[in-house]
Amino acid sequence: MRVAIAGAGLGGLCLAQGLRQAGIEAEVHERDPAITARFQGYRLVLSQTGLTALRGCLPRRWHALLEAISGDAYGERLVLDPRLNKIGELGPGRSGTVIDRHVLRHLLLTGLTVRTGAALTGYAVLADGRVEARFAHGDPVAADLLVGADGVGSAVRAVLAPRTTPTDTGVRFVIGRTPLTGQFAGLSRAFGSKIAGDGVSLLLGAMRFRTPPKRAAEELAPEVVLPDVGDYVRWAMILPPDGPAGTLSPRESVLSRIEGWHPDLRALVEQSDPDNSTLLSIRVVEPGERWAPGPVTLLGDAIHATSPTGGNGANTALRDADLLRRCLTEGRRDFLGAVGDYERQMFEYGAEAVRHSLDALPAYVPRAEPA
Ligand SMILES: Cc1cc2nc3c(=O)[nH]c(=O)nc-3n(C[C@H](O)[C@H](O)[C@H](O)COP(=O)(O)OP(=O)(O)OC[C@H]3O[C@@H](n4cnc5c(N)ncnc54)[C@H](O)[C@@H]3O)c2cc1C
Repeated sequence: MRVAIAGAGLGGLCLAQGLRQAGIEAEVHERDPAITARFQGYRLVLSQTGLTALRGCLPRRWHALLEAISGDAYGERLVLDPRLNKIGELGPGRSGTVIDRHVLRHLLLTGLTVRTGAALTGYAVLADGRVEARFAHGDPVAADLLVGADGVGSAVRAVLAPRTTPTDTGVRFVIGRTPLTGQFAGLSRAFGSKIAGDGVSLLLGAMRFRTPPKRAAEELAPEVVLPDVGDYVRWAMILPPDGPAGTLSPRESVLSRIEGWHPDLRALVEQSDPDNSTLLSIRVVEPGERWAPGPVTLLGDAIHATSPTGGNGANTALRDADLLRRCLTEGRRDFLGAVGDYERQMFEYGAEAVRHSLDALPAYVPRAEPA
């Protein structure tokens, strides 16, 4: 069986690793000109479900490495004012494992065939039941199965389920990261908490690697080359719905909104890397439209994009990858039956993941300032 995967994000790479373990040839086609073309290193909280799925797709010999490059998710889940006084509680939160997306992506890339600069533009189902994937540049690729793991703006989805389109929630946020130096030790009660300011919320999370990733790979799995990254604080400022973007850089925009805040919070934003501070909008994709199982399917944000406040987008993409791997490789199902089994389960929990993330959104979104 030959599988073509569009998108070298977490879901696509995890599937390719899982299939590779089962001896199935999977080639990944990525639109970006290079794997490191964009900075994509934010901290992810992995649930037990996400972590189990990830481990299921990785070779056993890398499980110790995965453990070493993860950290513990913890947080007091408080609501704090801008001077860091407690004014409320966020309620029970997620426990789990934290991992850096950039580091995880490097682990997942190891040993795979990934073609970069390969933007999929569409596909056609061939007379023999296979599929031909087409790209903006380069030759088309024929495969038994095309998996659209190409994220929220999926080009595969545009053909397979054209009425399923992203919805913009109107919520914008700026995300950045700052090295976790001793100066910020005093901020620990703010990790996992929400700092509620006037018309904005600031969320902090610590990424503490059990072992620095580069060293961990050298010691535990020398065939894996991981980036040299140190501990950091990930911060995210959620702006009022449809608030003005302004002409300031994302980092300047955050600084202009936290004047008079606790000096450690200002220092945290000031010391962040400007290149890695980005304005993002929250868009969701709600799976609804169904199609008959065939040689094309979807996975991850391409079919169920969640709000990051749900903390479940990556977990669900990894769950998809593991489920599709198992459907294709375990048991004695025929090919279309295997794809159909995957889609039936994925639609159910994928829709639930999007609903859950939207339910969680209001707790983090500041009310718009009166005009
Ligand atoms: C700030 C932030 C924090 C988050 N925190 C969490 C968290 O704590 N826990 C959690 O579970 N989730 C979290 N998420 C969500 C999570 O990152 C996503 O749900 C997850 O990355 C989705 O994986 P994916 O493989 O489906 O898509 P993506 O990771 O988006 O990958 C899609 C890939 O496809 C490529 N592509 C796009 N179009 C094409 C094309 N036409 N042809 C070829 N390639 C294409 C893209 O370049 C990209 O590499 C967070 C998201 C953000 C933004």
